[in-house]
Amino acid sequence: MSLNDRVIVVTGASRGIGRAIALRCAGQGAQLVLIARDADALDEVARECRAAGAPDPHLASLDLSRDDEIPALFQDVFARYRRLDGLVNNAGILHEGVLGMIRPEDIDRVLAVNVKAPLMLMQYAARLMTRNKRGSIVNLVSIMGVQGAAGLTLYSASKAAMIGATLSASKELAPRGIRVNAVSPGFIDTDMTREMPEAAHAARVASIGLGRAGTPDEVAQLVAFLLTDASTYVSGQVVGIDGRMVV
Ligand code: NAD
Repeated sequence: MSLNDRVIVVTGASRGIGRAIALRCAGQGAQLVLIARDADALDEVARECRAAGAPDPHLASLDLSRDDEIPALFQDVFARYRRLDGLVNNAGILHEGVLGMIRPEDIDRVLAVNVKAPLMLMQYAARLMTRNKRGSIVNLVSIMGVQGAAGLTLYSASKAAMIGATLSASKELAPRGIRVNAVSPGFIDTDMTREMPEAAHAARVASIGLGRAGTPDEVAQLVAFLLTDASTYVSGQVVGIDGRMVV
């Protein structure tokens, strides 16, 4: 399960699942490129990565709702490392709102972060990975993108879009040695879910067979597996990690 010398880009690495993925990959020796908006939080995650024995991560404080800085990011990755082995499209935003209350600007904002940015990142990453004829892309989707839930139409649509993108990209990129998979969490204990109203939070936990929310590190372990050579024959999969949640 070593990621020694592997160059891996992780988006949304400042907290929650993205932070856990960064720390897991750091513990396995990866050279990380960490992206998030909050520069101070990224600095703290970088400190934790160094403490785990990883090489000094490269930090990029970017707002992924804008795509104009993405090309320069990948030019920088190439200039520094001459390679890219992994991309984790983790950054995402939740939107809750029933039909009739979803504003056009909500749709633009959620699709920009949850769909447009990961698609752009996949394109640039695939170009770099093609040089070495290998690579692993992992997209964080959601059980809501497969099953849906009342009040989550916009969010579910964005995650379903990335499931489709994962399936198509995995076919297109397989001849170049690049694997593309999606990880589909259920209900994980992060700021995203802690911000929910108490009753809604309790109802979601009650719908989980294992009787508890997942931890960010449980998701990170699965993502790390998909990045390592322990999974060289796994591609085009949407892997659920939801403690047998029933939506
Ligand atoms: P979180 O809200 O705790 O963290 C999200 C991360 O994305 C943060 O680092 C944030 O800075 C980053 N981010 C958000 N908007 C950004 C932007 N415009 N530019 C750059 N970075 C941005 O969320 P989380 O719970 O850790 O979720 C991580 C991923 O997993 C998301 O894609 C989410 O949809 C998905 N997911 C989470 C759960 C869950 O229960 N927590 C369930 C299913 C899927």
